[in-house]
Amino acid sequence: MNITVPKCGSTEYMARDMCSRLGLGFVQAPEYSERTVELGVTLSPEHVCFPCKVLIGSSVEAIELGADTIMMAAGFGPCRFNYFAEIMRRVLEREGYSFRIITFDGPRDAPLDFFRNVRLIVPAANKGLAGMARDMTLSLRKGWAFDEIEKQAMAVRALESEESATDKAIAECLSVLDAARTRLEIDEAREWIADRFARVPVDLERPYIKVGLVGELLMSIEPYFNFDVVRWLARHGATVERSLHMSDVFTPLGRNPVLGYNTPEINKAASPFLCHEVGGHGHISVGATVQFARRGFDAIVHFFPFTCLPEVISKTVFMRISNEFDIPILSISVDEQTGRAGMQTRLEALMDVAWNSKMKHEERPGSSPVVAPRDRVPL
Ligand code: SF4
Repeated sequence: MNITVPKCGSTEYMARDMCSRLGLGFVQAPEYSERTVELGVTLSPEHVCFPCKVLIGSSVEAIELGADTIMMAAGFGPCRFNYFAEIMRRVLEREGYSFRIITFDGPRDAPLDFFRNVRLIVPAANKGLAGMARDMTLSLRKGWAFDEIEKQAMAVRALESEESATDKAIAECLSVLDAARTRLEIDEAREWIADRFARVPVDLERPYIKVGLVGELLMSIEPYFNFDVVRWLARHGATVERSLHMSDVFTPLGRNPVLGYNTPEINKAASPFLCHEVGGHGHISVGATVQFARRGFDAIVHFFPFTCLPEVISKTVFMRISNEFDIPILSISVDEQTGRAGMQTRLEALMDVAWNSKMKHEERPGSSPVVAPRDRVPL
């Protein structure tokens, strides 16, 4: 069995770790590229969501590299994501590809289906059901650590006082985490990671702004689709915090250990603005935006796929949040036509508004002036 999974944040890291524990083959899909998008757009029905097209293109590339089993997630609720696996199966079979797709619903939503799917893997794995459950838990734990590295890097990159200090810390943390196998080793690695980032040399006198990154999973997490906005923002003096991490998404009971506050808290924050479930991660986008605004963030960037209904609803709600909290929010829709130049112009405008607002609030008589970074770096 050569398994592949959708490429999104820490998903592949967790899946690769799990496959190595279970003695299964794992095929990593190539990095997203123009070819991935072209393949997906060519093969998919025109009106399916952009992420579905992308995942179809990416699955083709993984099958070309030897994958024979695609693991997908699905679920219930008002979102077209639940149809992705079936659409992918039909499109790829129609194109003559030979593969099997195993679609996992959440264990709480459909426990029988979940265990039926797990049993499909058991014959190929070198463990029984209990051993598999234990290994899945350990892989998820490693996923938390992987996402914590990303979270710390986003928080510190804009302030690093030595060039590439953050990248160096990331590389060291990943090699420590790769070597961790047991629960104790993973927990020690997480402590080591926190300590390593505390030692990244930073310039505490340097002015900075805080930007929250929210939106649909693939567009807000994957640098290919948001033009690596996290690094771009760091070069413009912004520390960044993101609302979604894949290991949080896979953690039961909405605990969100990486984000730091749980889903009921997010729902409570969203409730004055959005009183019912809209599907996808629309509710989280709204709730996290309110949380960021309350915590004094200076701007919000919202990425979503063109025609994504949950995020379009969030976008309409953002106007009210922006007025009530006096915080600039930029929504950017992404599809195969999205160009760098247009996105950069709008992001630069957002940076100008955020820095001006910060200067207005922070410059007091006698204090040293807040100066925005002037380098206009291309996306
Ligand atoms: S979240 Fe948006 S893009 Fe994703 S499946 Fe749902 S509607 Fe489509």
